[in-house]
Amino acid sequence: MGRASRFIVGALTAGGLTLAATSGATATPEAGPPPVGHDLPKVPVMRGGGGAVASVDPIVSQIGIDILERGGNAADAAVGMAAAVGVVEPYTSGLGGGGFFVHYDAATGQVETIDGRETAPATFHDKVFVGDDGQPMDFDTVVNSGLSVGVPGTPATWEMAAERYGTKSLNTLLKPAEMVARKGFVVDQPFHDATVDNAERFAQFPDTAKIYLPGGEPIKTGAILRNPDLAKSYRLMRTHGADVMQRGELGEAVVDTARNPRTAPGVSVPRGQITMDDMRAYRALVKEPTHSEHKGLDVYGMPLPSSGGIAVSEILNLLESYEERTGRQTEDLSEGDWAHWFAEASATAFADRNRYVGDVPGVPAKELVSQGFADERSCLFHADEAMTRPVPFGTPDGSYGDCQTSGATTKVGAEDQHTTSLTAVDKEGDAVTYTLTIEQYGGSGMVVPGYGFLLNNELTDFNFTPVTQGVPDPNLPGPGKRPRSSMSPTIVLKDGKPWMTAGSPGGATIITTVAQLVAGVTDRGMPIGDSLAAPRISSRNGTSTQLEPLLADGSVGEYLTSLGHTTTKVDRLGNATGIRVHDRQDLEAAAEPTRAGGGSAMVVDPE
Ligand code: GLU
Repeated sequence: MGRASRFIVGALTAGGLTLAATSGATATPEAGPPPVGHDLPKVPVMRGGGGAVASVDPIVSQIGIDILERGGNAADAAVGMAAAVGVVEPYTSGLGGGGFFVHYDAATGQVETIDGRETAPATFHDKVFVGDDGQPMDFDTVVNSGLSVGVPGTPATWEMAAERYGTKSLNTLLKPAEMVARKGFVVDQPFHDATVDNAERFAQFPDTAKIYLPGGEPIKTGAILRNPDLAKSYRLMRTHGADVMQRGELGEAVVDTARNPRTAPGVSVPRGQITMDDMRAYRALVKEPTHSEHKGLDVYGMPLPSSGGIAVSEILNLLESYEERTGRQTEDLSEGDWAHWFAEASATAFADRNRYVGDVPGVPAKELVSQGFADERSCLFHADEAMTRPVPFGTPDGSYGDCQTSGATTKVGAEDQHTTSLTAVDKEGDAVTYTLTIEQYGGSGMVVPGYGFLLNNELTDFNFTPVTQGVPDPNLPGPGKRPRSSMSPTIVLKDGKPWMTAGSPGGATIITTVAQLVAGVTDRGMPIGDSLAAPRISSRNGTSTQLEPLLADGSVGEYLTSLGHTTTKVDRLGNATGIRVHDRQDLEAAAEPTRAGGGSAMVVDPE
């Protein structure tokens, strides 16, 4: 497998593009410089040495490889790639959003995380999404408004990652993305389809429509999308750092857009509450990862305000508890039994996550990821019968043995899918997995006028009202609070060295996708590419377990039904990336082969 070496970064510094001419018949002839990267192949699995990356898009992955080849490390590559996703997949993430960055430092052997989650304004309170009639506000009304916009955390995350872990300046790392924004890229079918899906809400905001609905129509497949306003924003970031968001003109533009949404004639949407004081108060936070052991490996994930690390660990712990209880090993299970075990473990983990996890003091995080707690929780499991949903939550009190559950249950809150995941490992063995988002596809629907990026709607990740009356809800809105997330960037170590990275978008299904990707490799002995491609199942303690078509339409679906599971067929779950580290010079990068149009895995020196 050949590779397109250095052309994106090279083009920026040397001033010429070699592979970017609009030779493809798909590009619409338009004035301006040729777009970037449409000739790059999409490869879902690549193995070799010298460093590896995986992302949703070949332009993004190529930028990561370019940075690694030029001596950058995994953190450098991840920042450069994230900035590029903000250009070529702007509906999933960007300057106006937030995310979680998990980093392994080969020099110290430490895993550390950066919490770059958006925050609520200081004026928020637990009834902010309750209308005058005492009812929760309409969800879609809040999504498409200034009220859902949290203080963005992505600029501060990039700056912190580059300064704390990287070797290159933010100025250097954002250059390739700026260039892609300026020169443009060729719109593909999934991008066009996502624009069609969002056309109605984008049309409400003229600054969004100007970019994505040219002439009033969703931008077409094959068209060249250039975004000079976004290029300007990256240039501002390169020159002034995250300060330009927290204290400078980008921040002022964000606050103004959220507080005074610019809408089409006749459209009015709720105003936001964020202020420049909120922007100035924002901090990306360095946090210790969650940690658990699984099959002799160490699993590190994202701590609060994400529920991802906790829930992924609980699922993996429960699988071990089920082994103990049944005397059977996960690797010996039939496909049907594996799906049943996984569904039960994830429904149980979601019961606990929904009850206990949020950006509040006193979350029993260590207990929730302990094997003792999982062993106690496994008492609900039956090898030949599905648990009744919703599964009751447990009692993570440090004293385990009885089958302690609460009679109370919690419902699954409303969450949607989207977001992006990327990962990089460098030749020294540093590793990053980074999941970032603006919440829904297209976030709040509002592009910041003159700056070319979409604002998040992350505050709709709060529960508008308690999900179950009488049961404390840790995820209600509050001042300066960060909404609970499901994002689950995960690094698995063996003997203190990276063994695997994993991450995915998909709202609450992120947890099940990442746990399944990891367990496919750790428990089922699958190559990472196969585990990533395998059909997915997601049971989140709602009444129905979601199955991708290959499971739903086959014998596994039938078997689950025979055990008493209620199932629903869904087109797809997740859009994962991961890297399996066989040894430092033998890396296997993996991205989706087909979901969401397929992703892109690359290594510096393919085998
Ligand atoms: N906002 C979601 C979360 O933090 C991610 C968005 C998505 O993937 O749908 O869990």
